Amino acid sequence: MPLREFILSQLRSVGINGKVAGREIKIRCPLGKHHDNSPSFQIRTDGSMVHCFGCDFGGNWNDLAEILHLERLSHDGYRTALKAKLEYMSDTEPPGNRFDVEPRGLWQGEWRGIREETLACIPSHIWFDDFGHRRILWPVTIYGRQAGWTAGWVDKGTEPKYLTLLEEGKIPFPFDLVHRICLEFGKEKLVLVEGQYDALRLIDINVPALAILGIEEKKDNENEYVIAGNIMSLIISLCTACNIKSIMSCFDRDAPGLRGTSYFGHTLKDSYKFLFRFPPENRKEGKGDVGNAPLEWLASIAKWYWQ
Ligand SMILES: [Zn+2]
Repeated sequence: MPLREFILSQLRSVGINGKVAGREIKIRCPLGKHHDNSPSFQIRTDGSMVHCFGCDFGGNWNDLAEILHLERLSHDGYRTALKAKLEYMSDTEPPGNRFDVEPRGLWQGEWRGIREETLACIPSHIWFDDFGHRRILWPVTIYGRQAGWTAGWVDKGTEPKYLTLLEEGKIPFPFDLVHRICLEFGKEKLVLVEGQYDALRLIDINVPALAILGIEEKKDNENEYVIAGNIMSLIISLCTACNIKSIMSCFDRDAPGLRGTSYFGHTLKDSYKFLFRFPPENRKEGKGDVGNAPLEWLASIAKWYWQ
């Protein structure tokens, strides 16, 4: 059963009717702490995140399932679904148990408005998953060595969830291309974003933007969210290699984006000039996300980069 159906049926079993909107399932806050006519409680359709805008409860499906006495998603359940969707794979994956991916040729044409030339630089591949969906697939290389793949949907307009198929947990994308652009332009500046599409939108207008592929990960049996350590060490190694002096974070205007900005700022501010910008608020979703940010906003990032 796809994760979305699993979650909806679990909710139905306790009389909650979830309304699907894109990647979110919206329900009235089930925690009983406040009135909620909005509804304010959102559950990612893959269970990776739940959040109430009313009482600020946050976590993942299993946190909510525990409170409502519903079925949890097992690690295996997650993995199966994530494999099917080519989504984030946690670094708890045991070695030697990695997914095989066979790209079916190079991608030709644009993707969600990203120019063909930009996609060819990475380079982009096409792949059909087990369900016959087309994916756009990118090798993630670090100093010439391929560390895995990351992917996006081709036929659906939704933003892909982040990682995929990597040997070493999360690593920034597209590391080698950004490295090359930084050396070539010599501007001593770097932009950090969350997702592949965010990075590609900026690279498309000649701004080297590195996607950290998700702000947070939840470690098993811990309630603490952390940034994967290899992300930070790779960013610092790239900055050293390219003489980067200023780093600007452009994360989404939501709770993880705010926490990520604070974390990166705190960690980098002593060694770099650290700046941050959030995309303008999006009335429809009540937040601002880089993937949907208007071109003028992207242009303002480019202006900072080139000045
Ligand atoms: Zn609530």
